[in-house]
Amino acid sequence: MQFQLDDWQETARRSFRRYLDAEVAPMVEEHEDAHRPPPPEVLRKMGEFGLLGGLLPEAEGGAGLDYLSYCTLLCELSQVWPSLRSIVSTSNLVLMIIAQRGTPEQRQRWLGDLVSGRKTAFFALTEPNVGSDASNVETRARRQGEGWRLNGRKLYISNGPGADLGVVFARSGEGEAAGVSAFVVEAGTPGFSAREVRSMGMNACPLGELLFEDVSLPADHLIGTEGEAFAIAKHYLNVGRCFVSFTCLGLSIAAYEAALRYAGEREQFGRKIGGFQLVQQMIADMMTGVETSRLLACRAADALDRGAPDRSRACSMAKRHNSDMALRVCETALQVHGGAGYTRDFPVERYYRDVRHLTIAEGTNQLQALLLAQGALGISALRG
Ligand SMILES: Cc1cc2nc3c(=O)[nH]c(=O)nc-3n(C[C@H](O)[C@H](O)[C@H](O)COP(=O)(O)OP(=O)(O)OC[C@H]3O[C@@H](n4cnc5c(N)ncnc54)[C@H](O)[C@@H]3O)c2cc1C
Repeated sequence: MQFQLDDWQETARRSFRRYLDAEVAPMVEEHEDAHRPPPPEVLRKMGEFGLLGGLLPEAEGGAGLDYLSYCTLLCELSQVWPSLRSIVSTSNLVLMIIAQRGTPEQRQRWLGDLVSGRKTAFFALTEPNVGSDASNVETRARRQGEGWRLNGRKLYISNGPGADLGVVFARSGEGEAAGVSAFVVEAGTPGFSAREVRSMGMNACPLGELLFEDVSLPADHLIGTEGEAFAIAKHYLNVGRCFVSFTCLGLSIAAYEAALRYAGEREQFGRKIGGFQLVQQMIADMMTGVETSRLLACRAADALDRGAPDRSRACSMAKRHNSDMALRVCETALQVHGGAGYTRDFPVERYYRDVRHLTIAEGTNQLQALLLAQGALGISALRG
């Protein structure tokens, strides 16, 4: 099996990276320090480069990219600004849900702004009492005339406080007919509020708690069929795990390259620290971690592109391995820097904070282990 970028993919990657290095990299630290989201012109540029809706067919305003091409761009973005990657990925997930499950009117109404980056979105599944057991959502949607009334709380929602709209998963129906449904909620809708939850990293992508108090929604804000949204959430979380595996690869590459640079410059005992065998061991471990992560991430993207029967397994495995590995690589890169790695003067400190959430988000690594073992054994550890 070979995962080689073709000429077109390589040209797209290089041109995107040139833009990121020239225009985006210089603003990252300032925005992260100020907890300030990326400026609108950068979000619009993400749209132009295909990071928003690039997977959609050209007829729907997308770029018709396959997963490998799209994820290659995500990996570059993750090396430069993980917070921007998170905003882009979440918006992209929401626009794919609207594009693939929405009516023509819903697509017409929301897609254009999301694909161009004029607007961004959040994906709200997790709640204070509902994390790993995501099928148990407590947020409630009740019929109100032709439309819906929404009540509940969502927690740890990426881009929640900053986005223009989002998809919210809520329980609807009674008794036998009860199920999870998905609704579009726009910022500014009466009864909907958001507050930022301060976290250890990813400062420029606000993490939020969302409150829905008697939020009235028109009937045409329901996405897809009533009661069937948990299947939608599961499908897109799977795709999200592939995106996370490339994000982890990007952070691992950035940390590894920073460690290489430092080890080649810093001197102790009259020689470069890169000449010491124990530092070389750390470099070799990081290098190997980057390559195993690359293989598993590409394997997951390839499985999605082929619609392979084992694509869920490939995405879970890549997400679990690559986030564990990225944590180790970023930690090792910090160690190579010694005391300097613990300061704000070098980027490895931020990589270490930014990478930490990736073993938790999109389904914890413990849950991925249970899903993988269930697939192999045919026995679920979750429900008898
Ligand atoms: C930075 C960040 C961004 C996020 N963005 C979003 C977002 O945009 N949208 C969204 O909907 N959610 C988002 N989340 C939420 C994320 O998906 C949840 O945090 C995650 O699913 C875990 O849920 P929990 O935090 O409630 O942990 P819990 O489910 O309470 O788990 C706590 C611990 O128990 C373990 N555990 C739980 N059940 C089992 C079990 N059966 N067997 C073994 N171990 C178990 C877990 O692995 C974990 O270690 C985000 C989280 C973070 C940190």
